[in-house]
Amino acid sequence: MPDTLLALHRQANWNDYFANPQTCQAMLHIKRRCTSTRAAVLELASMGGSGQSGDGADKRWYEGEAAPPSGWFSPRRTPRAARDPHGGTYAEPSREVPVHLETDVLVVGGGPSGCAAATAAARLGADVTLVERYGHLGGLATGGLVFWIDRMTDWEGRQVITGYADDVLGRLPEEAVYGPAPELWGSTDPEQVVFWRPRQKAFRGTVTWSPTVDPEWLKMVSVDLLEEAGAGIVLHSWAVDAIVEDGAVRGIVFESKQGRRAILARVVVDATGDLDVCALAGARYESDTDAGDVSHCLNVVWCFAGIDLARWLTYARESPDEYREILRRGAEELGHLELPAAGWRNDVCVFMGPRLSGFDGLDVDDLTAVEIESRRRMADHLRFYREHAPGFESAWIMTTASQTGIRHTRRLTGVRKLASEDWKAGVRFDDEIGVSPSPSQKFETVSVPYGSLLPVELDGILASGRHIACDPSTQSFMREIPQCWVTGQAAGVAAALAVASDQAPREVDVDRLRAELRRQNVFLHVEAASEAARAS
Ligand SMILES: Cc1cc2nc3c(=O)[nH]c(=O)nc-3n(C[C@H](O)[C@H](O)[C@H](O)COP(=O)(O)OP(=O)(O)OC[C@H]3O[C@@H](n4cnc5c(N)ncnc54)[C@H](O)[C@@H]3O)c2cc1C
Repeated sequence: MPDTLLALHRQANWNDYFANPQTCQAMLHIKRRCTSTRAAVLELASMGGSGQSGDGADKRWYEGEAAPPSGWFSPRRTPRAARDPHGGTYAEPSREVPVHLETDVLVVGGGPSGCAAATAAARLGADVTLVERYGHLGGLATGGLVFWIDRMTDWEGRQVITGYADDVLGRLPEEAVYGPAPELWGSTDPEQVVFWRPRQKAFRGTVTWSPTVDPEWLKMVSVDLLEEAGAGIVLHSWAVDAIVEDGAVRGIVFESKQGRRAILARVVVDATGDLDVCALAGARYESDTDAGDVSHCLNVVWCFAGIDLARWLTYARESPDEYREILRRGAEELGHLELPAAGWRNDVCVFMGPRLSGFDGLDVDDLTAVEIESRRRMADHLRFYREHAPGFESAWIMTTASQTGIRHTRRLTGVRKLASEDWKAGVRFDDEIGVSPSPSQKFETVSVPYGSLLPVELDGILASGRHIACDPSTQSFMREIPQCWVTGQAAGVAAALAVASDQAPREVDVDRLRAELRRQNVFLHVEAASEAARAS
């Protein structure tokens, strides 16, 4: 039967077909409904393949990607319904669990937003603890090998993402950072653009501040910043439940090798990326995705070393016909050819794919399938690149990501939803806590409101990072690492202020919050009206 699926896959150009988010939704639906592979095959056949690339492919510039979306549906996969539990349910006995510790501010998740949140809160003197499920910090930026830090400059080259971004990047040794010098940011000089674009540091004809960094150094300096600020770190601990009292989150239950334990806190920051703590606490959330955005794709990122990237890029520029032929052949042989992105040194590159469509980042069987299929695809790529790509003759697999590449699962339903109508109209919020570069020259920089970190109803908790309250189209750039640093830093400062003033996060004085963010070197657009009035 898998052969039949494979045949269908080829015949109907499924690679492109499943890159289309609408059909991906349909695919997920089929997988949930069909009880056998045969049923899935028949249903797939009845859908037919469009043979077209995903709609709105141009949106992938949000991640600096130039080619149209593409992905695969794994023909080895068993439909979900066939895998769903058949054994009914098990009533887990209730039990008392030890309290591991009590803290003022508990940050759950040690990715970009969690590290920024915990560092910022601790700098205000709060007692802060950060809990992380893996054995290192950095989240997708390190464990996920997404060390290509996206744009922090606007279209004129002005840096608008500062604060924690500068602190953490400034700590990295020179050898661990690769990107254009500040005097080139905003440059539209064709020579500079031609050089930096294939290295993912020029976008829409403009050179940007979007470095690639060594993930191992990023792990280490993230710890240094936290420890210097005085925050506590608890690694290898997975939050599995939220403690809620009188409509407010008061801590978490987590699992580790020591079993199940609790951490009690006055304010919690949910920086899990998947909104785990808010969801466990009963907060409302949204999960819809936008047509044409890659947010529906899951993949495992990998790095090849022993390469000469400059040679490959020179070949692409100087021998365009031969280069195109390699891409064509790769697409034919492998189903789709992923392209390398620049690492932090010339002998290392990163492949951000393969993008596997139609999988759910919250489904453990899907996550398993993606891990296995991605590495198989990687081995195919290694063989192909070694054989055909100048500069890759001696390539070897340096590493694969320990954190699955998930761009989107849940988004908070917040007090304020950052929506594309707002930033397209250039709205500047009176509770602005940060600024993002805009997705294209057509728009002004994006104002990020404090309300997008606050759940509509639940108290005692803030959400930062890729799951803040926004629409899908806004999430496609607000999920980038620099933007996650921005919302994380704001959440951390707000949490510390809430603790200091014994208030709920939603009651925090926004002027004080903004003033403190500025003191921590965060770029903000304007003085809030009341702040200006107070100063006069
Ligand atoms: C394939 C891919 C390519 C991308 N490309 C780019 C790019 O080029 N440039 C860019 O800037 N961004 C890119 N992004 C987006 C960016 O990497 C992420 O959106 C960003 O890292 C999100 O940061 P975060 O802190 O919100 O979440 P994450 O980075 O996901 O961090 C969340 C942390 O929380 C931990 N955690 C999760 N659940 C729990 C729990 N229950 N208990 C305890 N700990 C928990 C995780 O282990 C992790 O450390 C890409 C993403 C992907 C997947």
